[in-house]
Amino acid sequence: MGAARDGAAALVDADAVRALPKLDLHCHLDGAARTATLLELADAAGHALPADTVDALEPFVRVGSDCRSLREFLTVFETFYPVLRQPGAAGRLARELLEDAAADGVVHVEARFCPSLQAADGYPPEAVLEEVLGALADADSPVSWGVIVCGYRPLPVEENARLVDLALRHADRGVVGMDLAGPEDLPGRPFADALRRAREGGLPLTVHAGEAAGPESVREAVDVLGATRLGHAVALREDAGLAERVRDAGLALECCLTSNLSTGAVAGLDEHPFDALRRAGHRVTLATDDPAVCDTTLTDEYLLAARTWGLGLDDLRVLSAAAVEAAFVDDATRARLRATVSA
Ligand SMILES: [Zn+2]
Repeated sequence: MGAARDGAAALVDADAVRALPKLDLHCHLDGAARTATLLELADAAGHALPADTVDALEPFVRVGSDCRSLREFLTVFETFYPVLRQPGAAGRLARELLEDAAADGVVHVEARFCPSLQAADGYPPEAVLEEVLGALADADSPVSWGVIVCGYRPLPVEENARLVDLALRHADRGVVGMDLAGPEDLPGRPFADALRRAREGGLPLTVHAGEAAGPESVREAVDVLGATRLGHAVALREDAGLAERVRDAGLALECCLTSNLSTGAVAGLDEHPFDALRRAGHRVTLATDDPAVCDTTLTDEYLLAARTWGLGLDDLRVLSAAAVEAAFVDDATRARLRATVSA
């Protein structure tokens, strides 16, 4: 194993991985906020953050290796969320997300966020979403994009239903799917009706499941909510029968290795099911989750997988190709992305 790791590390070069066309299907807009941007937004909002330089602020807005749970992980967001709740913030994050993606060799990104969480008095969820869609549409970027609207487990059923309505109304402007996010000890079942409406209206569903909770959360996502992609699904390692069923149904997995370490979903990558699922024929993709909060890039995630499990550049290209097939895109975009990844 050690020899294979060393060999792979020698074979897979960071520049080659950065140049490899990649797709990030699981990237939270709020978790991608640059630290310098947070400081400028704090100034504009007149809100004091715990520090006023990039270096001093980073320990407060990034998760350290001592983070142990998803709930602890989510508290980092509470530090900077107040500065996001102002007009202009979400649009700026969206523009900068495309810049950072392009610099990292990402050719397609699906940005997800919950408009309700970034709303404020006089700045409703609809305005937040329209600001993001406008910023992405106006950006002169080589990166193609889609927006996934996150329902959020702690929100009331009616608010999540309103988010589904909002997403459906903006499907012709770049909203491509729905997600359900938030602490997984809160059940997703109460939102089943709203999420079914989204699916029936043409918005496919990805669900955060099997990250903090066990296989039952994956079962709920698949059987009750109708997810066609799963965020994390680390808990598949605990239930071989369920894993087989997920594979045979062709559901895609959005694996976020660094994030899984930060939230304590796995204690170490030797416990992570990524490679076993990949070898078993699952549609496995790699994603960043919260690149700024986790201090990672998609290139970093590909390198981490390569070095941990001895993958070569061809294996990594297979991950990109799997993401093309799993992306929430129309036929023409998928054909273009296939050509880009296989070139
Ligand atoms: Zn996530």
